[in-house]
Parts: sequence; structure tokens; C-alpha cells
Amino acid sequence: MKPKRHVAVCPFPLASHPATLLLLTQKLAAASPDVHFTFLTTSYAAGALPEFANVRIRHVGDGNSEGEEVRHPKERLRMFLEDASQNLRRSMAAAEEEVGLKICFVVADALLSKDCGEIAEEMKVKWVAIWTSGVASLAAHMYTDVLRTGIQDGGIEAHKKITADKYIPGFPPIPITELPYDVIYADLSSPGGRLLHLMSLTIPKAAAVAVNSSSHLETTISATLDSIFSHNLLHVGPFPLTLSSHGDDEKNDHDCLPWLDHHLSTTGPASVAYISFGTANAPPAEELIALAKALKVTDVPFLWSLPDDNYSLREILANGQGKVVSWAPQMRVLRHEAVGAHVTHCGWNSIMESIVTGVPMVCRPFMFAEQMLNKELVESVWGIGVEVESGKLTEDGAASAVEKVVSGDEGRRMRERIREMKRIAQEDAAQSSTQDFGKLLKIVTE
Ligand code: UDP
Repeated sequence: MKPKRHVAVCPFPLASHPATLLLLTQKLAAASPDVHFTFLTTSYAAGALPEFANVRIRHVGDGNSEGEEVRHPKERLRMFLEDASQNLRRSMAAAEEEVGLKICFVVADALLSKDCGEIAEEMKVKWVAIWTSGVASLAAHMYTDVLRTGIQDGGIEAHKKITADKYIPGFPPIPITELPYDVIYADLSSPGGRLLHLMSLTIPKAAAVAVNSSSHLETTISATLDSIFSHNLLHVGPFPLTLSSHGDDEKNDHDCLPWLDHHLSTTGPASVAYISFGTANAPPAEELIALAKALKVTDVPFLWSLPDDNYSLREILANGQGKVVSWAPQMRVLRHEAVGAHVTHCGWNSIMESIVTGVPMVCRPFMFAEQMLNKELVESVWGIGVEVESGKLTEDGAASAVEKVVSGDEGRRMRERIREMKRIAQEDAAQSSTQDFGKLLKIVTE
């Protein structure tokens, strides 16, 4: 079928952004077979991403003209951003030539709002921004200038006593020191600080802003954001419910499910701790060892997703009580009845996955992206998890947090609360998020 429209999709080329944006693109594409989607990403981010009938992946220059082996994400980001605008323009022109149709709409990762917004303006087409995280973190970034102007310099100790609701309407009373680092403390001329600051200045020009959350999970903050975005905030998540295979990996099973089945019949439901610190962060070795010792003391069986570079630790962990894998099918693991606690770094996807499966959390967040803010939401606002004492994994602190969640009364209450959130998320996914997806589809394809 000859396509009627040509839409460009521009994911941010790091971490889980390309895979997430591709799932959203597939959903848009499946509902509009007469629209051609060009998915523009760097060759290293494209990896083994699959193509579909009306979704074609086109590579964008990654700023690395020497073709060097660049592994550090910060360096990759700096190189990509230096030429992103030019490289995106070039690839879009080539895609127009190949498809034989002018691009008439741009779907941008919110992080690329500045470049994509400018490109769309030059092309005289509309664009939408996709924020792959939740409402609270986006609101914090939107108030970067207000917060920086309002807060007197008193250092971190003084800032710990100031809560964000003083500056951001509808925000919970979370200390401003727990907001994403870039909001208040980053150098706004650094690549990361600049990227997020420019996003906050340009994203209101988008025709709509879609978020990986649902309308009843962060309600009061949603109202604030919706008014900033001229009532064009669209809740199209949580993605683990609204994008079919999000977080699921059928191929890399590592026999996790049979192992959990076995535990269900021996140690019982909600008895196992699942541990993962995501794709970008790892606690130092001494913390991992402390956690391993804590698990031994508590006698809680564990399934641990630990990247392959932790060989020495694997030996310490190799006892009958736990299973260690280099990658776990996280959504299917969390959905398993045997799992009773999720030890997490508080990445947004992991938190959404815990909510939609009803598994309370033990939090060990890092000063990275919005993990500290997410931990505050989980622990203080929603009451569905607990941070390890002093924020670091010690033998006693980790043992007490794991025991609290797996077997304590507080854990039981957390489980009840998270199951209620799961119910709300499921209801939203079936109703308001479906309606908002319909609106997004209409904006992008009509
Ligand atoms: N993940 C997984 N298996 C693993 C480790 C991680 O499937 O063994 C997935 C997890 O389900 C989530 C994503 O990787 O969807 C991590 O995203 P998140 O936002 O939680 O953290 P990040 O890696 O971006 O810090």
C-alpha cells in the first residue's frame, strides 16, 4: 500500500529510550497502516531493534566520525548532541527521498524537544514530545528556573528543609534535594544540564506531551503539568500495561520461571526477593557483598539480575538459596506469585513494573536521573516500599529492609497499598490511557 503520510520518530539514543519509543511507534503504526513511520536512531542504539511493515529504522550520525569504540554513555551523549540537529535533518531528508513523501509530523523524545521542535518549525509541521518517565519528574524539570531563582543559596543542609510543594503547585512535600540533580545543582552549560534545561523551555511548544504514567497515579501534579501544556498532557501509560511487550524478553529466560515455580511450591507465595539495579547503575562491590550477606542471614530466597562483569561476586552468591542471572525477564518475574519483594534502584520503568504486578519495593536509588525522587514517591507518598537505612546497602540495613517487606506487618500494608495502585493503573490503562492514546494517534496521523 502506498503510504498517505510520512511521520518521523526521533528517540533519544541512550538507555531504554529507543526500545520504548519503538514500542509506542509500533502501536501507532499498527493503528494506521497507511502512514509510513521513519524511526531515526544511531546505529549503536538501533542494535537489533526489529522493523515492521510501516516502520523503517534509519540510522542517524552519532557524532563519531572517526568510528572509534566509544563506550562511556556520557561521552556518547556529548558526541551525539554536538551534531544531533544537523544529523537528524540529513537523515530526515534522505528518508523523504527514499519514501517519496515529505515528512508531515515529528514524534520527538522529550529530551530532543529543542532540536526536533526547531526542525519541525522549519518544515512547518507539528510535533509531539514523548516523556518516557512519569509526571513528577517532568514537573520538576519544568520548574528548573523557578526553583533556581526562588531558592536562596544555603547549601545542601539548608535545602534539605525546603520542600518542592513550596514552588511546584500540586507537588508532594518532598525535599528539593531529592529532585533530579539537573534541576537545581547541575551546571546548565554541561551537556546533560543543558539538554534538560532546553527541554523545559521548548517542550510547551509541542502539540501534545505524552507521559509514561496514568491519570490517577500522580493526579495533583498532572493538573499542574496539564495547565503548562495548554491541556495537551496525554497519559498513555503505564507502558508495561499499554505497550504490549514492554519489559518482557521471551528469549533471555535463563530458566528464571521454572526456578520461581519450584519456590512457589516450597517456600510459598510472595517469599522470594527479586534484585536488579537496572541497566545504567551498579552499587559498589562492598554493597553487593553486604546485600548477599544480608540475604543469607534472613534466609530469604533470591533471584538476582547481575550483569556478567561481577564474576567474583557470583562465587560468593553461589549457594543454594539464590539464583543469579545476567539478565532476567523482569516483567514475567515480577508477575510470578513467588516474588514478594523487588530490590530496586528506582528506575521509573522498574517502579511502574512493580506497581502493575503489585510487588512492594526495597529501594537503593542513585543520584542519577530521577531515582531519588522516585524513591520518595514509593516510600513517603505512596507507602509501597522502603529505602535501605542511610541509602546504602549494609548487612544490617539490607536485612531489616528485606525482612520488613517480605514478612513484616508493614510489608503486608505495603502489599495492600500497591495492589490498590495496581487496580487503579489497570483501570486507567483500560480507560483514560486508551482514550489519551486515541488522541495521540489522531494528532500524529490526521
Ligand atoms: N530489565 C530487565 N531485566 C533485567 C534488568 C532490567 O528486563 O535483568 C528491564 C526492566 O524490566 C526495565 C528496564 O530494564 O524495563 C530498566 O529500566 P529502568 O527505568 O527501571 O532503569 P534504567 O535501566 O533506565 O536505569
